[in-house]
Amino acid sequence: MQIKPSTLYIVATPIGNLEDVTYRAIQVLKDVDAIICEDTRVTVRLLERYDVPRKTLIPHYKNQEARTIAPVIARLKNGESLALVSDAGTPGISDPGYFMVSEVVKAGFTVEPIPGVTAATALLSVSHIPNGHFYFEGFLPHKKGRQTRLKFLTEMDCGVIFYESTHRIMKFFNEILGYFGDREVLVGRELTKMHETIFRGTVSEAISFFEEHSQKGEFVVLIDKGQLTKDN
Ligand code: SAM
Repeated sequence: MQIKPSTLYIVATPIGNLEDVTYRAIQVLKDVDAIICEDTRVTVRLLERYDVPRKTLIPHYKNQEARTIAPVIARLKNGESLALVSDAGTPGISDPGYFMVSEVVKAGFTVEPIPGVTAATALLSVSHIPNGHFYFEGFLPHKKGRQTRLKFLTEMDCGVIFYESTHRIMKFFNEILGYFGDREVLVGRELTKMHETIFRGTVSEAISFFEEHSQKGEFVVLIDKGQLTKDN
């Protein structure tokens, strides 16, 4: 692959299993001048796995993204090609990315995708719940606006996908039961990792299951749409 100068590549990386990365992603990571990443230790693990030669890593954190923009634009002006990765999956999907992309586009540089894994599409690919249409919510707000958001989502006429962390998963299931009722769910825990769990059942069954089994790790949840009524 011919790497282009003054270009920002948005590179998807694995969500767990280090083998879930494309050939092109590794080529780009090998060929760019520098890599913009979140936790450098996470990125170094991937680079070492694929013998990517050591190169400049530019740390880039959520909510502090503005700091990285000026140095990134300066490098692009200088003709460098850069890659943006996140700790897991596709940058921009519930991860830093959007702000960097919009600023780089505004500055007149090319941004190219190197697509790959996201937790949401991995879950959808094994869905027994109709998924011709779906709504991606990602993380709910932790406090302000959470209830309003949940009420809004109960009205969706399609499945809804959520991201949730280990600490909040039981609270999350209980809230879903309260707002959505006992709908069918598909739960992916630690997808592609050693302790991968795929749970199929209703929300109340998910609560019982995860009370008895490990709640550790990362969760992605698809909630089926509600029963159609005469009005919809
Ligand atoms: N950019 C990522 C993507 O493309 O899916 C998402 C990053 S977001 C900061 C992290 C959240 O994604 C986790 O809290 C979890 O909800 C979900 N996630 C990431 N990896 C996962 C996995 N292996 N299994 C289940 N959910 C995962």
